[in-house]
Amino acid sequence: MALDWCPFAVKRPISSENFSTGRAGQQVKAVVLHIAAGPLSAVFPTFNNPARKASAHFCVGKDGAIEQYVSVNDTAYGNGLAWKDGQWYKTRADGSIVFIQPTWQDIIPRVNPNLYTVSVEHEGQPADKWTDAMYDANNRLLLWLAEQFDLTYTPHRTLIGHYEIDPVDKASCPGPNVEYDRIAADLAALIAARKLTWMPINDQAALYEFAQENDLGYPQTDEFAFTLKNEAYIAQVFNLGIVYVKKDDWGNVKWVKKQ
Ligand SMILES: [Zn+2]
Repeated sequence: MALDWCPFAVKRPISSENFSTGRAGQQVKAVVLHIAAGPLSAVFPTFNNPARKASAHFCVGKDGAIEQYVSVNDTAYGNGLAWKDGQWYKTRADGSIVFIQPTWQDIIPRVNPNLYTVSVEHEGQPADKWTDAMYDANNRLLLWLAEQFDLTYTPHRTLIGHYEIDPVDKASCPGPNVEYDRIAADLAALIAARKLTWMPINDQAALYEFAQENDLGYPQTDEFAFTLKNEAYIAQVFNLGIVYVKKDDWGNVKWVKKQ
């Protein structure tokens, strides 16, 4: 079960009339990118207005701020469609009905896509280019979502724009400059890196300093221990040698060529 609230987003819960509790048994299978067509500061008041019947789970600001309005385990009203007589449709604010043919090939017939997506708004206008801070924050959020829902990101399959669900009224959401391939590649690298054990480099340590002074290159392992004649040693592998020292004899660091 996913955490309800992202720990590094600003939590701004909205009116319970603007989302549905739970996901009616559906699993999250994609993230939908949106453009807010306005500033970050306008998003919460809009989503908190019961008259609007609109919401998304998150909004990312141009400066990298992240706000969350709805638990990811609940259904936001970000990209919904209804189904009738074998067709998708939506009811516009004026009460008229418009039929929609989504281009997203993984949409589940008859099942409202809000139930199996997480919706992420972005500050600004459709023609804007996202800032690097916005890409960074979006990456951080999508990495967290990947861990919550076991997602990987493929452009236009599990990482989509709103226009792929509603090409009629939302053709420019999130806009033509959003770099889906860049986001997917960034996330693939981040997800792969998360699976490794990261080596904590202690650049204050005696072994590291000795290796740098002696041009032994970069560390290739964390520090590790061994014993000789009941004495404890600490060692670390560098590009050009293994540096080691007897504990409590820090002034007497040695190194040996790798074999
Ligand atoms: Zn949208």
